[in-house]
Amino acid sequence: MKTSDRTYQESTEQSDNQLGPELKECPVCSAVGLPERIKDHDCQSFLEQRRRQ
Ligand SMILES: [Zn+2]
Repeated sequence: MKTSDRTYQESTEQSDNQLGPELKECPVCSAVGLPERIKDHDCQSFLEQRRRQ
């Protein structure tokens, strides 16, 4: 009887959590966030929030 030398390796390697979805920067107010959010955000309110900080 020959036993195969193959070791049973689980191939469930999960790549390290990468940085997730790419962030996009708004060309108008330079807000950075998910593309969906950037597309849907309000530049003016963002700028106002930035001024406060
Ligand atoms: Zn904006």
